[in-house]
Parts: sequence; C-alpha cells; structure tokens
Amino acid sequence: MLRNRHGKPYFTEAEFVDLNTLKRLQAKGLKAWNLFDPGLLFSVDNLRHYLGKPFIINNYSYGGDRKWSGYRSMYCLEGAVDSQHRLGRAVDFVPVGITADEVREIILKDPWNPKWKYITCLEMTRKGKSIPWVHMDTRNWDKINNGILQLNL
Ligand SMILES: [Zn+2]
Repeated sequence: MLRNRHGKPYFTEAEFVDLNTLKRLQAKGLKAWNLFDPGLLFSVDNLRHYLGKPFIINNYSYGGDRKWSGYRSMYCLEGAVDSQHRLGRAVDFVPVGITADEVREIILKDPWNPKWKYITCLEMTRKGKSIPWVHMDTRNWDKINNGILQLNL
C-alpha cells in the first residue's frame, strides 16, 4: 500500500474489516487485505494519495461507529445480501475536506485514469438525494462499452 509523507500506510486493516473478522484472520496469521479485490485496494489507495484528503472508512478502532464500510462478513446484517461489500469488492468512505459529489465527479470525468481504472461502479443517489459518502466497487461490469455503472438507488 502507498504511504503518507510520514512513511505510514494510508489505511489500517481495521479500516477495512470489522473487529471479529480482523481477530479471526489474525489468529490464522492472515491479513485483512487477503479478502479484497486487489483492484479495489489499489484504487482506494491511489485515489487517497491523489486527492491528498483523508477518507473515513471503518472508524471503530478510533472510537467511531462504522464497522461495515469495507468488508461485510456473513455476520453482517446491514446492506444487501448480494452486496459487493460481501465479496471484498466495495468500499464506502466519507472524504474529509472534499465532498462525495466532488470525488465522484473527478472519477467520472476521467474514468480510465490509471489510478482508479479498476473502478466499475459508483452509487450516485439514494431516493433522489446525492449520497454523502462514496461507494465505489470493482464488480464485473462492461465498462469498456458502458462506462462506469452509476447507480441511483
Ligand atoms: Zn457501499
């Protein structure tokens, strides 16, 4: 993963998986990253680096209530049963210092930018309102012919 100017990775495993999953993996000597599509991790990391703004994903490890913003295990009762989150292909993040709309706009303006070329889907609106976090995923979708799938839920 990419590192910030202090030499630290931008993200911790806890920001991508809930605590039970993290502990289960650690007990087996595994990393949370093993659960994810490499194209998703590549894109989150590179987008974070490019924008130079923090992303809030799971924040339980520092006192917040978000724990299903990355991977959703079989024990997660939130979201759709067939969500891309359950396949390790989706992430939800709240960008700090830039709006979710602005981030989506940057991605959609340049969908094949090498930094986020693996992104195939963005959630745009929910019940007609723009979503205040960025959901992006790397689902199997014909981006070459159809562009990034923009979901209005
Ligand atoms: Zn999502």
